[in-house]
Amino acid sequence: MDADDAGILSRLATEGSSSPADVVLLVDAARLWKAQVDGLFLPVKSPALEAAIPAHLRAKAETDGTSAWFGFSTRARVVVYDKLKVKPEDVDTYEELGEPKNKGRLCTRSGSHPYNLSLFSSMLEHIGPEKTQAWLKGLVANMARAPKGGDTDQIRAVASGECSVAITNSYYLARLMRSNKPDDKALMERVGVVFPNQATWGTHVNIAGGAVARHSKNKDAAVKFLEYLASPQAQQYFADGNNEWPVIKGVTFDNPALKALAGTGFKSELIPTSVVGMNQVKVQQMLDRVGFR
Ligand code: FE
Repeated sequence: MDADDAGILSRLATEGSSSPADVVLLVDAARLWKAQVDGLFLPVKSPALEAAIPAHLRAKAETDGTSAWFGFSTRARVVVYDKLKVKPEDVDTYEELGEPKNKGRLCTRSGSHPYNLSLFSSMLEHIGPEKTQAWLKGLVANMARAPKGGDTDQIRAVASGECSVAITNSYYLARLMRSNKPDDKALMERVGVVFPNQATWGTHVNIAGGAVARHSKNKDAAVKFLEYLASPQAQQYFADGNNEWPVIKGVTFDNPALKALAGTGFKSELIPTSVVGMNQVKVQQMLDRVGFR
């Protein structure tokens, strides 16, 4: 879901005003915020999008009353654990992942990957800078091995016994749950899934989002396309095809993996994704300080 995003961003920056792009679709608030700051988006005025998409899942432009980018689907950053070795109550908050009781258990991808930057940026908003840095230090102390690979690699590492706790975006789990491969089925038998922080502020949720490209020559059509992405038909596709949750209310979907993962729903955090994007600068400094690669 994210391998091409860095390429898209560098291409837009290189092409400048000769870019043929009208719409930019990116995953993760960390990337969307960075692209906004780098001047890659045009401000958008769309009452339809503002009415359809919850305010915390879209970002304001610098100009008054306009928007910079919009979230069209959500993904949760959840905890997976080895059902043979770990009690779910020991890993049902993000805070606990940094506590000594989970020493030697944790597998993670790089700390500076956008998915982790955003999770850590969310923590910064919820618990403040001092506790966040101490927590990150705790995560480093609890690692079973040095950070490497993507989210799916972390799930596989839990299933193989290399570690016993990991963090992953929800759609990677949904993909494995929908896989027909015997190996993937066995893997999902071994791991448990928890949506952290249900008793407090809710699970960290990120977005796949979109914006109008800075040098679009078809701005009206670009806005219409974004409005289409917030229509019930397109929203249903995000759920059934992309294994992510719709952002608009009342969309019906029939994705068995999403239903198995979250049942009738879960509590998600409500902090603005734009703040999550912005905090990444402070978080990156903390990662350097605690040696989280
Ligand atoms: Fe992804």
